[in-house]
Amino acid sequence: MARFLPSIWLGEFRSKAEYDAQGQALAAAFSVYDWIDDRLLHSRHPFSYPAYCVACAQVTPIQVGWVLALGNEDGSVHPAWTETGICSRCQLNSRMRALLDLLQTRCLLQKTSRAYIAEQTTPLYRKLKQWIPSLIGSEYLGPGYPSGTLLSSWQGFASVRHEDLTALSFPDRAFDLAMTLDVFEHIPDYRKAFAELWRVLASGGSLVFTIPFFPELETTRIRASVDKTGKVIHHLPMELHGNPVDPAGSLCFQNFGWDILAALREVGFADAVAHLYWGPWQGHLGYPFFVFQAAKA
Ligand SMILES: [Zn+2]
Repeated sequence: MARFLPSIWLGEFRSKAEYDAQGQALAAAFSVYDWIDDRLLHSRHPFSYPAYCVACAQVTPIQVGWVLALGNEDGSVHPAWTETGICSRCQLNSRMRALLDLLQTRCLLQKTSRAYIAEQTTPLYRKLKQWIPSLIGSEYLGPGYPSGTLLSSWQGFASVRHEDLTALSFPDRAFDLAMTLDVFEHIPDYRKAFAELWRVLASGGSLVFTIPFFPELETTRIRASVDKTGKVIHHLPMELHGNPVDPAGSLCFQNFGWDILAALREVGFADAVAHLYWGPWQGHLGYPFFVFQAAKA
């Protein structure tokens, strides 16, 4: 089925300079995409339309809603596209399915892979577990637990593993594939998390992740940090994101810019790439967005 549809992968970039060099061409393409969105948005009511779901491997109704809708400078309002575009069958949203597309097209989704994902209570974890039976998932349950702690019957889940990405319990080179989706922005010392994930990956392994990313930023904008006493210092107004395991939400410590590719290389990754995605035929609308891949030599 997928072979009858155009690719949703638009290109890859290794720096802001590389991205900016395509500025005019990208701006022109994005104006096409924006026009298509506007034609779809008859009203502010939720709607669904048929598109191919890479997780279900079939055309399904893709639901578009207005939760977390964003206002633009010109006064227009658009859905939070990467958070919506939810497959009504498997419940995976746009960014989750784009990450799956990257895994599939790069042959990273292997049944025998040793894989880790920094989530365990989500539809994506359950879907991936069908393909990679030995997949290990975890949640961050707070500073009170050591990494590797297994909590039984936790909030309706039979067993949940706690891991702190800056101090993982796994041995060196334990995995071929590591994945995180919109997690790094909640970790003040995200460079330490990058280093830990590099440590637990085997030679040739890949870290694949999504983050809220700001392609206009060369340098990551630090919104909050943690001082030596553990106190959170706010440099910009607080930004809270939804958290599947904490109704109070999670504080966003930084808005990522292109320097994270350099940060990934600095901790040891041989290559770090931002893959650009868009394609209504697979339920990806709105501003094109990125899925990241860092490879260990
Ligand atoms: Zn689906």
